[in-house]
Order: sequence, then C-alpha cells, then structure tokens
Amino acid sequence: MNIASLTKISVRNQPIYEPGKPIEYVARELGLDPAGIIKLASNENPFGPSPLALAAAHRALEQAALYPDGGCYDLRRKLAVRHNLHEDQLIVGNGSNEIIELLGHAFLNEGDEVVMATPAFIVYKLVSCLFGAKPVEVPLNQWHHDLPAMAAAITPKTKLVCICSPNNPTGTANQEADLLAFIRQLPKHVIAVVDEAYAEFLASPPDLHALIREGRNLICLRTFSKIYGLAALRVGYGYTSSELAATLNRVRQPFNVNAISQAAAVAALDDTNFALETKNRNHAGLEQITARCRELGLEIVPSVANFILIKVGDGARVFHELQRRGVIVRPMKVYGLPAWIRVSIGTWAQNHRFLSELNEISRSPPLL
Ligand SMILES: *Cc1c(COP(=O)(O)O)cnc(C)c1O
Repeated sequence: MNIASLTKISVRNQPIYEPGKPIEYVARELGLDPAGIIKLASNENPFGPSPLALAAAHRALEQAALYPDGGCYDLRRKLAVRHNLHEDQLIVGNGSNEIIELLGHAFLNEGDEVVMATPAFIVYKLVSCLFGAKPVEVPLNQWHHDLPAMAAAITPKTKLVCICSPNNPTGTANQEADLLAFIRQLPKHVIAVVDEAYAEFLASPPDLHALIREGRNLICLRTFSKIYGLAALRVGYGYTSSELAATLNRVRQPFNVNAISQAAAVAALDDTNFALETKNRNHAGLEQITARCRELGLEIVPSVANFILIKVGDGARVFHELQRRGVIVRPMKVYGLPAWIRVSIGTWAQNHRFLSELNEISRSPPLL
C-alpha cells in the first residue's frame, strides 16, 4: 500500500498553503545577501516586536523547564478586562489560526457547509476542506464582503460563516452597522466567525461585544502577530460566549500556547505606546505607498489594514522581478488576482526601497 492510497480523501484533496517566503530562503535561492533583503510579504510588524513583550519573553525563558499554564490564566484575565467580558469567554490559541482549526474540530462534520468570501483569508477554506466540509465561496462586491449575498448562501447545512474584516488580501473593512445586522439575522444553527486580525489598525474598530452579550453564536478572533509584532511566537485569541469557549477548550491540546508567548502577550497588552506608534506609522506608510502608486499610474485598492493590493499587470513577473532585487512581496494568483501583488506596509525606508524598485521595473518593459 502506498501512502497516497492510505491517506484520507479530505487530506489528499487538501489545497496547500503557500506562506510568504522567509528572507533566508530567497537569499539562498538567488545568491543574495540576506542583509539586503526586505520582506513585505506576510503583514508582519516592520518595527519589530513590542519592547515590553520582548523583555517579558526573555524573563519567561528562564523558567523553560516548567510546563506552561495550560489555561493561559493571566492572559485571559487581562483580555477579559480589556474586552469587558468574563475570563471564561476567552480562548487562547497557537496563533489565531489554531482557533480556526479548533472550530473545525469542534463543529465541522463531513458535508457541512462553511460560507466565506472570495478572495478572503485562505485558511477558512483549508480548514473546511480538512474536515470534509464544503467551502461556499461568495465573491466580494467592490472589494468588500457581500453580506446580503453571504446571507443568501446560507442553507440548512451551513455551520460556520467566516467574515474577515479588515479582509486579507484586500485590506477593506465592512461597516459596523452592516456586520451587526448581518449577524443578528443569522439562523440559530450557524456560528459567525469574525476574523479581526487587523482590527487594531482601524481608526475605530467595530464593536461586536453587544452581540455576544445578546447570546448570538459568534466568535471574534484577534492576534498578537500583527500590531504587537509577535508573529514568531504564535499567539492569538478568540472572545465569545463561555459555552463556545468551553467547547473549543475540549478539542485543543492541553499546552497549546507556550509560556514564552503567554508572557510576551501579557506584556504586549500593556505596551499601548508601541501599538499606537505602529498604527500611526502604518497609516503614514499607507499614504506614502498610495500616493506614489497614483503617481506611477498604478491602480490600488484603498486599504485600512497594514498591507495593500496593487495592480501591476503581470503579478507573477513583478513578484519575481522584485524578489531578484531583494524585495519579497506576495503574488496574488492563488487568490484569483493574477494582475495584482499584495505588499505589506514597511518602515518608511522599506516602502521607499520597494517603490523605487517597482518604478525601475515599470520602466523596462512597461508594466501594463
Ligand atoms: C495574519 C492573519 C491572522 C493571524 O494569524 P496568527 O495565526 O494569529 O498568526 C489571522 N487572520 C488573518 C486574516 C490574517 O491575515
């Protein structure tokens, strides 16, 4: 028996996730000096980790011989205060990606349907397929989640509906009132999953807590990977009803979040300065890139997140050309947008470097 024929059908058919390329990979592949390469491919924080988080992580490392707190008590308590919820309403994961997978473990049977937008974060689709559920993909309307069309896509088989706001890869957000109305009209057999990975970059994030207090089937996901700069530590969380959190707790590993990450996340929440600076600098970077793209005559999708879609003609070619010049971005063909690249907002200097390389490429031969 070969492995392929022994493998579960859902796993055999599982699409493969291609992450942004690490700097060291690109350096090795292209024979470049890693020090000269910049990565604007995974929406990481270009200002590094929160300094308070980094100091706390160093201290926690001293206790590495001990198992972590499997219940993430300190972190959940801190998050409960922040969200004005009970500790039992928080679930912490090895990145918010783990929580998406836990939702699959807890709720997805074979043949269930998961309603999601397209293009949106690809992990909703991957997790659906992994559990033999059917991803029901609803096209965006003018780059935004088409909430009326998503409501119409719900059937008796629908188990989850995923909303990514701001959406990856488009950087667009739905209005608070629309989200509230959409979730309030969902039938009782559907759980809403609102992925708020980039909510902290918004001028005023939508407030969905009232829905949780009303007892709606809703979980909101947040992450320490973006605004707090802790992507390598893999920590994210969900806030929801205590019943839904308890259900997810049953399907996670006992020590799913390591002690270094827990300590760093607790400290990061106190680093309001760092989060605010990141948000402000990101805003300036968005304007820097938007303005220059307009000068170059390149279409963009106006973004409220820490990345932006740019229409470059042949996305794969521009991706390779930029990579050869030491700038890693993300081609968008897998998202059905072959003419576009997605670029994370970097430091002022990184953005400047990206823009001048893009300009060079656009001169010979023409981009569009
Ligand atoms: C980056 C990102 C996340 C965060 O994932 P982690 O597992 O917490 O690193 C979640 N959702 C979306 C849409 C993202 O872009």
